[in-house]
Amino acid sequence: MNIEDSLPNAHTHLPVNDSPWCIQVLTGKDLISIEKPNPENLFTVGLLPEDLQFSNLNLLWNKLEYFSQLENCRGIGECGFDKRYSNPELQLLWVEKHIALAEKLKKPLTWHIVGKWASYLNISGLYPTHITWLLHGFQGSVSLAKQLLPTECWFSFGAALLSNPNAQASFQFIPIEKILLETDANSELNLDTLYQQGAKLKNLTLEEFILKIRSNFKTLFDQR
Ligand SMILES: [Zn+2]
Repeated sequence: MNIEDSLPNAHTHLPVNDSPWCIQVLTGKDLISIEKPNPENLFTVGLLPEDLQFSNLNLLWNKLEYFSQLENCRGIGECGFDKRYSNPELQLLWVEKHIALAEKLKKPLTWHIVGKWASYLNISGLYPTHITWLLHGFQGSVSLAKQLLPTECWFSFGAALLSNPNAQASFQFIPIEKILLETDANSELNLDTLYQQGAKLKNLTLEEFILKIRSNFKTLFDQR
């Protein structure tokens, strides 16, 4: 196993190599193309707002429910709200289905939010939840993070941590117990570089930082 494989990656759409520290995210197109997830990989499964354009949604949902019950399925999602798609009622309907499934299976829920934080805050008030909600690809400001923290959510940071001052400031502000790192779909992003940046921003040695994030990863995705 090389060093990259032992750094927790909370969210990736790239091919995964049997790593116990990596969460492969399966979405609509994967539900169409994959018969069964690789039993060696940990994964989460959900429908993105853009997936709601597929015509066979109920069939995809049946398959998603089957995938979600497998032992190596460690969470539901990503699902969420995305301002780039003009189907807000449909997005809400399917978000509610994901929340109900995650609650039923007691698995964490990964969120994809693009520009629709009001919708997220609204629904978080309606669901006093017993499972952890993970906001993936977070790059919002400290003032947004302050609004979100009372919803008991966790935050996963990706490439923005290297270049986006908002993401960097939020990362410093959010308690380390609620933080994970991810590559998402970015094949150019070196996980090692991301961890070095995270350690620097949190004023920890790389070893200390890796241990903390590994512990978080186990807490969130090893709840069995
Ligand atoms: Zn994603």
